[in-house]
Amino acid sequence: MLRSAVGRIQVAVLGLVLAGTGVARAQSTYVVNDTHFHLTNYVQQGTSIQEFLKLMGGKVGRVALFGIPLQQTWSYANTGDFAPTYYLQTDAPLYYYSFTDAFIAMTYRSLTPQQQARFDPMITGFNPADMYAADHIKRVLQTFPGVFSGIGEFTIHKEFVSAKVAGETASLTNPALDRILDVAGEIGLVVLLHNDVDMPFPRPGQDPYSVVQLAQLFKRHPKTTVIWAHCGLGRIVHPVKDQIGMVERGLSNPELPNLHVDISWDEVAKYLVATPETTRAVADLINRHPDRFVFGTDEVAPKDEASYLKVYRLYEPLFALLTPEASEKVRKGNYERLFDEARRKVRAWERANPL
Ligand SMILES: [Zn+2]
Repeated sequence: MLRSAVGRIQVAVLGLVLAGTGVARAQSTYVVNDTHFHLTNYVQQGTSIQEFLKLMGGKVGRVALFGIPLQQTWSYANTGDFAPTYYLQTDAPLYYYSFTDAFIAMTYRSLTPQQQARFDPMITGFNPADMYAADHIKRVLQTFPGVFSGIGEFTIHKEFVSAKVAGETASLTNPALDRILDVAGEIGLVVLLHNDVDMPFPRPGQDPYSVVQLAQLFKRHPKTTVIWAHCGLGRIVHPVKDQIGMVERGLSNPELPNLHVDISWDEVAKYLVATPETTRAVADLINRHPDRFVFGTDEVAPKDEASYLKVYRLYEPLFALLTPEASEKVRKGNYERLFDEARRKVRAWERANPL
């Protein structure tokens, strides 16, 4: 009797050890975490979470998960029977679609605890020009406790998008945005903010006012953990003169201790690895500030592994020039540090502030 009990315990312990090794082995195959991923598109359609887990496979460990807060209107007056799925396909306006947060929360809740551990859902369904936006963020946390780790990607200045949003145009100087960053700092939410570094077609010598306003905004919220999406670059928005120097000055500024930069989006990779010289210069910048850069794909509703990991492949020449320490941090470590801390702080806030 006793012997069989011991036997069972031994088997159980062996099982745990094997399960432990299995987990360790699975984790060691992960090559990257993704700080920037849209499960759904501009008309709230996308990849099912179970399909997406297959795309992550053994390569992508953890993902910051969100939809897109802006819904493209299908205006019959504008496009007739053509149903636009992207903002460049119609002149009809975009509007803030708060239901995306409930959708992402319910998607997360459909997962097993082991699957949930691989996601950090983000709140996006608020209007950053609305003084009530901060209240929406708190309400989402209280309605879906145990789910969210951050806010974003949300957008202030974005080529072709900001001008299409119905209602007041978002601005870096709007106190509504200060309220959002205050609340994020107070709760411990990671902020993923898209703000173009410049306008799409600046006149020669035009002042990139956005950079100045952005630096002032970040300096007003030094305790808020911010990831500046794509270091401000876009499809058309080019690096400003001395972009690398500008980012370096920001990261070296003691007034900006919590500023981070993501290198997501294939449209951004086209600048950062454009030539061997730029790849080298960007690698040197990251090697000097290895704690401040994070990898993201910025893929929207991908259909297969090749399209999901396209941006990762584009950056392979860049990763090859990083020190082993910087490469590990940019691909995985910085994500884990930022989001582990956010999970801990946000859960504590939710326990202290039940609905
Ligand atoms: Zn994005």
